Amino acid sequence: MLTGKTALVTGAGRGIGREIALTLAREGADVAINYNGSADAAKEVAAKIEALGRKAVLIQCNVADFQAAEEMIKKAAEELGRLDILVNNAGITKDNLLLRMSEAEYDAVLDINLKGCFNTIRHAAKLMIKQRSGRIINLSSVSGVMGNAGQANYCASKAGIIGLTKSAARELASRNVTVNAIAPGFIETEMTAVLSDSVKENILAQIPMHRLGNTKDIAEAAAFLASDRAGYITGQVIQVNGGMAM
Ligand code: NAP
Repeated sequence: MLTGKTALVTGAGRGIGREIALTLAREGADVAINYNGSADAAKEVAAKIEALGRKAVLIQCNVADFQAAEEMIKKAAEELGRLDILVNNAGITKDNLLLRMSEAEYDAVLDINLKGCFNTIRHAAKLMIKQRSGRIINLSSVSGVMGNAGQANYCASKAGIIGLTKSAARELASRNVTVNAIAPGFIETEMTAVLSDSVKENILAQIPMHRLGNTKDIAEAAAFLASDRAGYITGQVIQVNGGMAM
């Protein structure tokens, strides 16, 4: 259970982030919901969290902006009283074959997916070190573990998150702050809804459990890593992918 804990989830208006925010609240946490463009969806998540009897705080912020990320962390900690759990979920894709990929496509994905994690960790870690406790959970991907044709930018960002996670875990472990990554397989959200049927069939053929994942599969892993039950787990990449990569 997460009774009395506080959390910030980035990109929590939609998809996996939304499910993580709702799951943490169901387990008893008060939650700051970060969004970038989806204000209405984020408000709906806040209303659901309040209906559970938990506190919800809405924070608009582009995680790629270092200063804005600092203000977001400050606001979350001030309004919730402290910050126990940070979930770096915000992420985008801009897929293209390597030889066709523009500099802008590469930079946008790295800025949001990888630098966005650095930006929030950089500021949240300060608070967590002072508290002598904290949980940081970063969303990587099976694509960051295996690589994927057409996703060089995305895979680089998600592999980078694994290195960032392990380094931060080593630096923060002595202060009782754990840092772990979740590497989801293919999960049914708006991000994967754009894939064609033939691509989906191809992916299914690579999944021993022969189904795409759902947002609950990922949220359960996040809730576990955020809990006291995971107190001795740090620097790990938890793969939640139906066996797609082992
Ligand atoms: P999604 O449905 O496309 O949602 C993306 C989320 O990221 C949205 O809430 C969006 O917020 C937020 N976001 C994007 N740019 C942002 C920015 N600059 N600042 C703050 N928030 C931003 O994606 P998803 O499938 O839920 O994926 C969530 C995470 O899991 C991502 O990191 C993704 O890479 C990872 N993942 C997903 C899968 C999958 O199969 N779906 C697999 C492996 C890993 P707004 O709508 O407010 O802009």
